[in-house]
Parts: sequence; structure tokens; C-alpha cells
Amino acid sequence: MELCKACAERYSEPLPARKIKPGTACAACGGIFEQIEAACKEARAGARDAGLEFDSFRVASTVPGACDAADTQMIREKGYAKITPIKNDINRKAGILARKITGKRQGAAGRCAILRLNFRTGRHAFQNENVFVFGRYEKLEVGLSQTKWLCSWCDGRGCKRCGMSGTRFEDSVHQQIEAGFSHAGIAGSKFHGSGREDVDVRNIGEGRPFVIELQSPLKKAISLEKAQAMINKAGKVRVRSLVFVSQGMVEVVKNSRFDKNYHATVALKPAPTATDIKKLEALSGATLAQQTPERVLRRRSDRTRMKKIFKVRAKISDGKIESDIFAECGTYIKELVSSDNGRTKPSFASAIGKAAVCEDLVMTGVEDNYMSCLLPPRIWAKAQLPR
Ligand SMILES: [Zn+2]
Ligand SMILES: [Zn+2]
Repeated sequence: MELCKACAERYSEPLPARKIKPGTACAACGGIFEQIEAACKEARAGARDAGLEFDSFRVASTVPGACDAADTQMIREKGYAKITPIKNDINRKAGILARKITGKRQGAAGRCAILRLNFRTGRHAFQNENVFVFGRYEKLEVGLSQTKWLCSWCDGRGCKRCGMSGTRFEDSVHQQIEAGFSHAGIAGSKFHGSGREDVDVRNIGEGRPFVIELQSPLKKAISLEKAQAMINKAGKVRVRSLVFVSQGMVEVVKNSRFDKNYHATVALKPAPTATDIKKLEALSGATLAQQTPERVLRRRSDRTRMKKIFKVRAKISDGKIESDIFAECGTYIKELVSSDNGRTKPSFASAIGKAAVCEDLVMTGVEDNYMSCLLPPRIWAKAQLPR
């Protein structure tokens, strides 16, 4: 087997290794060890061109499957103790070279970049680690989806039906919040919300918890104040309590099952009476049997869920009912009002024996107090202050 010097050392083969004939590559690494310096320089040049700012770096490398296979074969023959796996050696050597080339420290400190050396594709680049920001948002207007809703006719490619936008709705909460971070030079972002409201439902009050994942920001300085000011100025979405968090908060927010407060404006036929109000408020404490609403049947499996309605308060105003509802996470409120052709039992409609339609729905609060233990106390205290 023809081995380069680096691989001979990795495999504890006697040195000097046999000289490789010109035109043949090392049987173990295929010549990768001779390319490391050029790869680091290429990555450095790319970072400079892009204006990437970073304080420190760590190395991650990818090698062709044949390299790993060669290592596995040698480990079988000689045992683990005598073999240094190829990636360990590449990363160690690349670390030394990249420290020299960039003048930066190795190891996570400040804004840490990843030096990705990919000897499979031949693409080598520095890239900043993703940054995670927690916050709460209010949705002040209807007509926004939470995340980009791809057009179902073209799957996001853009067609006549969606006006070439590729999305079903022009704008989303995600896009509004992402725009606030344009100063960070991000490659893109992912949005994780603690549940979502329907497109035609607003969310005003305490705000819904979310985490936005900023992908590979070029800039070191990311200003949460600047982001908040810019998002709020646009006027469609209002954010607050922004704070940098670790990646772990994504799962916390995504898997959260918070009970929620709503305000519903309900039209009744015939018009509401004082007796209706008593009957509606008597739904406090009721458990609903709620079959998947007809309007979401295409997306969700048809089954019956039991949901608790903790509290209903109602009053008559302008011939309609204004109602505050506190309900278990995942309750479909519009169907709690209308009964959805009898698929939700009991409902506002069944309790009073009149046709009921939810004309306007606003989420007003999320019962998420346990999250306070996971966030810096100072930020939490701020979140509790009136705006
Ligand atoms: Zn080699
Ligand atoms: Zn389309």
C-alpha cells in the first residue's frame, strides 16, 4: 500500500514511508493531507470576501467514504491503539494551520466560526455558528401566516396563481421578524413558535413565545434593540423580551403545550339575551369532545380530542357577544363557538340553542410561567412590565 507520510504516521507504519510514485495518490487519504493548507487558505479568502467577522473557530471536516473505510480496515488489522483516525488528524493539522493563517484562537470564544473542510465536495469555508434569539410576538394584523406558507400549486417555485411569489400569503410573522436581523448579514433563518394562530386570528397582549434561529450571521455585533425597533416600526408584528438563548430553547418552545386566553366576538341568530350569557358562562369547567374541524381535515387526522374549557366570561355589546375564553392548549375556539356541524360538543351554539359564528378572534395570553426558570431573570422581569 502506497502511503503518504501523514498516513504512515497515523497507521504507525515505519518511516520513512515508501516514496509514492508520481501520478499515484496515497492509498489511505487520496492526497488530502497535501491539500489542507490550500483548503484553509481558500476558506480564509472566502471569509474575507464575504466580510465574515469572528473571534475564534473550530474545525469540522468531511472525507470521502473510502478514507474511513481504509481506517476501519487498519483498525481491524492493528487495533485502535495504533491508529489515529483521519478526521482527528486533519482537524488537528488544519487547526494549527488556520491559527497561523487567520491569527484567531481555536475553541469556542466570542463569536465562534466553524471551519468546514469538505474533501468530498472540495468546498471549504468559514461559517459562523447559528445564533438563537428568544422573544414574544404579537400579531397586530390578520392576513399573516406564522411561517412562509408555500403555494400548493407550485410548491414555492412561483406560478400565476400566487403571482409568482411562491407563497400563499404575501407576508408572514417569520418574514417580519427575520427582517429585523438584516443588519447581522444572515444567510437565512428558521422560526420556531410555541403553537401558531390561524391566518385570520390576531394575537395581542402577552405575546406568543418564539425562537428565531439566525443562520450563519456574517457580523459579530447583533443588536436586539435594533431588531426590535425595526420589527415594531413596520407595525404588523410587535416583539419584546428579546434575548440570546442556547439551541436548547428551540425544543422547549416547540414542545410547549400552553393553555391560552382568547377574546372572541360572536354573532348569534336570533340576537343574544341575558339568559344566553348565563348559559355561556356555565360552560366554565366543561370538557369538550372535539372532533377534528372540517376546515383542517385535509391536513390532520380525523379523531376526537377531549379539551377542558377552564373559564368563559361573556357580555352583550352592540347586539353581539364579547367573550373571554381560557382553554386548554390545542382547543379549536372557532368550533367551540359554532359547534362545527355538531363535531364539537358542547359548544356555544348547543348551549344556547342558537346559530353562533365567531366573527373575530384574538389570542390574548399564554400561560407559560414555567419558562421564566429557563430565561435570565432580568429579562423575565422586563417581560412582566407593562409596555
Ligand atoms: Zn495519506
Ligand atoms: Zn404558486
